[in-house]
Amino acid sequence: MKAIKAIKMLGQNFLTDNNVVSRIISLVAPSENDCILEIGPGQGAITQELVESGATVVAIELDRRLAPLLAKEFVGNSMVHIVEADVLKIELRPLLAGISSKRWKVAANLPYNISSQVLIKFLDTPDLFSDLYLMLQKEVGDRLTAHPSTKEYGILTLFTRLHFDVTRELIVKPGSFHPVPKVDSAVLRFRALPAPRVDVGDERLFRRIVKAAFGQRRKTLWNCLKHAEFVETDEELRLILAESGIDEKRRGETLSLDEFATLSRRFQLAGL
Ligand code: SAM
Repeated sequence: MKAIKAIKMLGQNFLTDNNVVSRIISLVAPSENDCILEIGPGQGAITQELVESGATVVAIELDRRLAPLLAKEFVGNSMVHIVEADVLKIELRPLLAGISSKRWKVAANLPYNISSQVLIKFLDTPDLFSDLYLMLQKEVGDRLTAHPSTKEYGILTLFTRLHFDVTRELIVKPGSFHPVPKVDSAVLRFRALPAPRVDVGDERLFRRIVKAAFGQRRKTLWNCLKHAEFVETDEELRLILAESGIDEKRRGETLSLDEFATLSRRFQLAGL
């Protein structure tokens, strides 16, 4: 593929280190039985090897210069689908289910500016996936493997932990990319759980509660939930917290996933 000038706005840091590509491929372990979704194939550093394994590959690329070049590269190969689209706008379920009803693996060196949004999008349809292998900014990776009461622990940690086991597999230094980013990266593996880790009741409500609890990190859970106005009176909020066994003076960042699940189910009982 001819040299392409990177567009910063598209988070284009192309992998140039074959050693890192090989390590990602050995993690993904693609085979002809696999269906693999790649986000942002770019110039095809990872795509090429996924395709060579004989897997069914769908690659979504927003850059209008790159998508046609990739499509040309794999023309005539019916196992490869290059889709020129914005991953944040495209509906993944009809796209993937229209090609195979299998659970999909995801492999992606994500554009860092939208990595959290892409991850949340995957979490909206966790049943579509078996494993995700995502290259992220190391700092974002740290948030996904964080424990309660640390500064890294937050909304993304909890939303992800509900559906996936997350492990960090690889740290990648800036010199492995062109252009060279300012920060370290990490490759994380997300293994989909057969069912949500805990019963949160209505997941949309669970997400609203978690977001509210982390809305003002330095404030108590009481303050955050009161501010969110989920219930009308202080008495009702006090009762919900007490019946959930959670001290209202705690901060949201100290609550485990189990505790958020209890809180969410209790709020649901209150008619939310
Ligand atoms: N996979 C390639 C590699 O490892 O060299 C490129 C990775 S680069 C970090 C991110 C890629 O995502 C770029 O090719 C960029 O054009 C693409 N991209 C950026 N925003 C996107 C979006 N909203 N939807 C789909 N692709 C996007």
